[in-house]
Amino acid sequence: MTLLHIVVFTALATAGYLGTCVLWPYKVCRTCQGRGQLRARLVGIRYCPTCTGTGLRLRVGRRAIDAARRRNR
Ligand SMILES: [Zn+2]
Repeated sequence: MTLLHIVVFTALATAGYLGTCVLWPYKVCRTCQGRGQLRARLVGIRYCPTCTGTGLRLRVGRRAIDAARRRNR
C-alpha cells in the first residue's frame, strides 16, 4: 500500500459517498426506524422530533452539498 493507493482509495470513497448523497439524499431515521412516530408513555404515540414524522433524514453529505451549492450561487 503506497501513498498513491491511499489517495486514490480515499478519492473514490469520497466520490462514491457524494454520489450516494446525490442519488439517495434521504436515509431512514434512526430514532424511529423510519416509522415517523415514537411510542410515548402517556400520550400513546407522538411524532418523531428528529425527522418531524417523515421517517426520513437528510444525509450529512447531502446537507454539505446543498450548503456548498447555496454558497456558489
Ligand atoms: Zn424519526
